[in-house]
Order: sequence, then structure tokens, then C-alpha cells
Amino acid sequence: MAVVVDLTGKVAVVAAASQGIGRAVAEALARAGATVSICARSPERLEQARRHIHATTGQEVHAYVADVTREADVRAWVQEVVDRWGTVHIAVANAGGPPAGTFQELTLDQWDMTYRLTLRSVVHIAQAVLPLMQAQGWGRLIAIESVSVRFPLDRLMLSNSLRLGVVGFLKTLAREVAPSNVLVNVVAPGYTRTERLLELATQAARRRGTTPEALLDEWAQATPLKRLAEPAEIAHAVLFLASDLASYVTGQVLVVDGGLAPTI
Ligand code: NAD
Repeated sequence: MAVVVDLTGKVAVVAAASQGIGRAVAEALARAGATVSICARSPERLEQARRHIHATTGQEVHAYVADVTREADVRAWVQEVVDRWGTVHIAVANAGGPPAGTFQELTLDQWDMTYRLTLRSVVHIAQAVLPLMQAQGWGRLIAIESVSVRFPLDRLMLSNSLRLGVVGFLKTLAREVAPSNVLVNVVAPGYTRTERLLELATQAARRRGTTPEALLDEWAQATPLKRLAEPAEIAHAVLFLASDLASYVTGQVLVVDGGLAPTI
């Protein structure tokens, strides 16, 4: 018998999903039959993403303008989903990446901002969805972090630091909510072909007097699989964790990096 991921009847919320990994995750969940709601800050780009996902999957997709650093936005988003579809089964905590830079280049304001963007935003989503998941005895909370939780990436001081806080938070949370059959995991991507990666390549190229394409190629060559990930390849890991195939997996970091991390 073929193994099929079928999320029919499941309600999923995917944060920061107007492009990149978030959008690919929303698309993969919708294609598997889930009813999906996405959020992001820009109404135009959010609506474009909503239409794209609807067109490629045929599913109804809900979109809500929200900034994940604002607790009230996240609560209002989840409330609108609950008013519409009754509950949330699957929540994907995602956000934009923190600014790149060395310790000397970064300001305290950037540390504060990244705390809100990278760590506090996951707390906002967890607070909004966990009571629903625990009450129904089924839930999946999945955060998109980075391979930087396995080894520090140069010039990504903020990501290297605060994402470890998210992993510690979610590992602890996984133990607390496991008795309610709510599973909490992290997906840690390596170099993935998105606008964020192109932006990092453009900044690095300027600094090093080369082209963004040369930098992307360098990163691909540094990866044992010798290529960048496509966003859909990260989304498939999320799809697995959201599905019943992962029914005994909780408190884990699933690294999807083409073999990049040199750690065991
Ligand atoms: P991206 O910049 O292409 O997309 C980020 C999305 O988040 C966009 O839809 C943007 O509108 C939205 N967003 C940003 N800030 C927001 C906020 N405050 N509230 C709501 N929405 C917001 O990024 P991506 O490459 O898809 O990366 C997603 C996450 O994965 C980031 O945290 C990134 O650092 C991480 N990551 C990416 C890579 C990679 O190579 N692309 C590798 C490792 C980790």
C-alpha cells in the first residue's frame, strides 16, 4: 500500500508565508489536503501568495495581515481562523531572518529586535494555538529555524545566538505538552534558494567584491550535496512532522541541509 500524507480535515496556520520557505510550507500542507491560513505584514504580497497557493493546490486559503513580533496581531489572526474553521491543528512558526553581522557591527537595538522576531514570535504563536491543541488532544507546532543551531555560521551572530533559545524553549515545551498528544519540533534548513538567501548573497558579494551568483555557487559547493535546497524540500520535512507519519516524534530538530552541518 502506498504511503500517502493526507491532512484532509486539518486546519493549519503558517506564519510569515508571503514568500520563501513559509509559502512553500503553506503550499505543501494545502496540497496534502489541509485547510491553510497564512500571515505576513504586506497585504499585497500576502494576497499574491494566497492566490498562488489557491491556484496551485485548488484549496481555499485564508490570509491575514499580521506582524509576528506583535502578540495582538498573532492572537487576532488565530482568533479569525478559529471563528472561521473552529480550531487549529498544525501551526508553523516562521519569520524573516535576523540581520547579518559580526558582534562589532551589531547594535543592542538589533539584539532586542531579533529577540522579538526570532524568539518572542514563537512564544506568541505557541500561546495562541496550544490551548486549542491541548483541548482537542492533537496538535503539531513546528518552528523553522536554521542549521545555525548545529554550528555557528560566520557573520550570523544573531541567528547563531537566539535560535538556540528557540530550540531550548521548544524542547522544554515539547515535554510539557506531550501528555496532550501535542508534538513540538524544529526544522533547521541549510542554504535554501529564497529571497532571503539572495539578499545575504548580495550583501556578502558587495563586501567581498564579487557577484551574488558567485556567492550562491560557493555556498552550494560548501554543501555535500553540491546544490542549494529548493523551498519545497524544506516544506516536505515540515509536511512529514505535521503528518501522522511523525506520530512518535517530538522535541527534535530535523536538519535539512544537504549534509552541510559537520556535527553528529
Ligand atoms: P524570506 O525572507 O524569503 O521570507 C520571509 C517571510 O517572512 C516573508 O514572507 C516575509 O514577508 C515574512 N516576514 C518577515 N518578517 C515578518 C514579521 N515580522 N511578521 C510576519 N511576517 C514576516 O526568508 P526565507 O529564506 O523563506 O526564510 C524563512 C526563515 O528560515 C528565516 O528565519 C530564515 O532566516 C530561515 N532560514 C533560511 C535559510 C535560507 O537559506 N533561505 C536558511 C536557514 C534558515
